Amino acid sequence: MLKIKIGPSGTTGLSYEEAFSYLKANGLTALEVPFTYGVRMKSDQAKDIGYLANKYGIGLSVHGPYYINLASLESDKVEASKQRILHSCEIANEFSTVNSDQADIQPDKINIIFHPGFYMGRDPKIVYDLIRKEISELIQIIDEKQYNVRLCPETTGKPSQFGSLEELSRLIKDTDCGICIDFAHLWARNQGQKNFDTIMQNVANLKLEKIHSHFSGIEYGPKGEKKHIPFSPDYLNEFVNSISLLSEKTKQITIICESPEPLEDAMFLKNTIVST
Ligand SMILES: [Zn+2]
Repeated sequence: MLKIKIGPSGTTGLSYEEAFSYLKANGLTALEVPFTYGVRMKSDQAKDIGYLANKYGIGLSVHGPYYINLASLESDKVEASKQRILHSCEIANEFSTVNSDQADIQPDKINIIFHPGFYMGRDPKIVYDLIRKEISELIQIIDEKQYNVRLCPETTGKPSQFGSLEELSRLIKDTDCGICIDFAHLWARNQGQKNFDTIMQNVANLKLEKIHSHFSGIEYGPKGEKKHIPFSPDYLNEFVNSISLLSEKTKQITIICESPEPLEDAMFLKNTIVST
C-alpha cells in the first residue's frame, strides 16, 4: 500500500506551531522548510521546530538556497555554494536531534533539496562530472559530521539548468545521493510534450522505495519554466491518476505543494487524491 504524505512549502505566514497544528487537523503530514533566500534559522530554533514537528507528526524537509551552482566557472562560487548546502544540512540536522534522543530507532533522514547548477553552454557530460565530484565531496563531509540528512538534487525546469531525470538518476547510482522529483519542472522542461503518465512511468522505472517530490502548476515558454502557478483541475487530475503507475517497490511518496498558495493547494491535492 502506497503511503502518500502531502504538505506545503513554508508556513504561509503562520508560526511553525500554528502551521503544524493546522496540517494535523487537516490530515496533511509534511512541510518543507524554505531556506531559499538564505539560511536564517539558528540551531536552537531548529531544535524547537523539530520537537514540534515530532509532536504533531509532520515530516520535515528543507529547500536549500537558490544561489547554488556546483558547476560554476569560478571556484569561489562553487565553494560558496557548498557552504550554503552544508549550512542547510547543519541546521536541518537539529530537526531530528529530539527524535533521536527519545527513540532507539534511527530517525528518518531530513531531505535537503537544491538546484545543482547550470550548463552555461558546456557539454552536459562535462557538467555532470563537475557536479558529481562536488556532491561526492559534500556527502563525505556530511558523513564525517554525522548529519542526519540526505542530499536531494532536484529535477529542474529549464533546459539550460543541469537536472534532467536521466542525469539525476545517474547521480543516485554514482554518489548515493537522493533525488527530489519536481513534476511541474519535468513538465516545463519538456514543454508539456510528455504527459504525466509518461513522466510518472519514467519515475517508476527508478524503483525508489521513498520518493520526495514537488508539485504545482507551471507557466513555461521555449526556455522552460517561467513561474509556479496554482494548478488547474485537469492538470491536477492527470497528475493524481498517474500516481497509480508507481512501481510496487515504492512504499511512500511525499508531495510538497510549491504553488503561490501552497496550503490551499495541498488541501486541494489531498482531497482530489482521497476522492479518486
Ligand atoms: Zn521544486
